[in-house]
Amino acid sequence: MRTNFLFTTIYLFFLSSSFAQTTSSFDLTKYISTISISDLKTHLEIVASDEMEGRDTGTEGQKKAGVYLINTYKNNGISFPKGATDFYQKVPSAFMKGLPDSENIWAFIEGSEKPEEIVVVSAHYDHIGIIDGEIYNGADDDGSGTVALLEIAQAFQEAKNDGHGPKRSILFLHVTGEEHGLYGSSYYTENPLFPLANTISDVNIDMIGRRDEFHLKSNNYIYLIGSNFLSTDLHNVCEDVNKKYINIKLDYKYNSRKDPNRFYYRSDHYNFAKHNIPSVFLFNGVHDDYHQASDEVDKIEFDALQKRTQLAFVIAWELASRKNRPVVDKSEK
Ligand SMILES: [Zn+2]
Repeated sequence: MRTNFLFTTIYLFFLSSSFAQTTSSFDLTKYISTISISDLKTHLEIVASDEMEGRDTGTEGQKKAGVYLINTYKNNGISFPKGATDFYQKVPSAFMKGLPDSENIWAFIEGSEKPEEIVVVSAHYDHIGIIDGEIYNGADDDGSGTVALLEIAQAFQEAKNDGHGPKRSILFLHVTGEEHGLYGSSYYTENPLFPLANTISDVNIDMIGRRDEFHLKSNNYIYLIGSNFLSTDLHNVCEDVNKKYINIKLDYKYNSRKDPNRFYYRSDHYNFAKHNIPSVFLFNGVHDDYHQASDEVDKIEFDALQKRTQLAFVIAWELASRKNRPVVDKSEK
């Protein structure tokens, strides 16, 4: 019997075109793997070096660190947001109870389908400076989050270069003044570049390069805080993408507004949550070097930093790519 050549050809044609559609969720692992230990280390050895003088708000050292961040974005082909004139959002002294003028730093990857909807990925790049002649380099706090943003942005940009950019836009926000009172994120949310109504989520990263006393046996964990406070969707996204791509233990020990440490209120995501923007905080807990001069790069566990950065990337990716923005089904009050 002869093969029905024409039928087979048409059949194969339809088969292949339908495959092309259903498998358009391309291989995200390629971009996850661009987040590398060597890049994180290269960036952190500069951001948390003595040259940056502990990055205290408004100091020359902090400004130098800011220039390094901007140059890294430029080298990766990433620009400042539409509607801004450069990479800086100036935060005036008057807003920060007399601290010197300082700057938030922002970078932007425009979405392909819903560019007006924004996912914020935030980390503070200030630290506590020089105290009694000692430089507090803040490698974990929050050098770790700072360099995580650089790597997440690079991963998004590589996907975009391949024609697989995110549907929604991503705002990378390096905030200032955190250590003195969450000033940079407070200023941004009071003076947002994009309407807060279109800001669908904040993924905030503050201290993800170390382990705490509750995880002495393994660094394969991260505390998630706030993920389910405003939006069940956001919480499910975090759980689902972790299961699918990363498999780190999600620890909810501090995921309570009544936690006596009040961690939920102590980093920049809270200024977004206050405005009913679903927000999640990634955090490794505290350790003996917290706010000490000994918070140095040589104590960073880069395998953990890599994995947690990859988790933040896939959370942001999913938020930016899924059909619907996370529904706010609970209230901050
Ligand atoms: Zn701190």
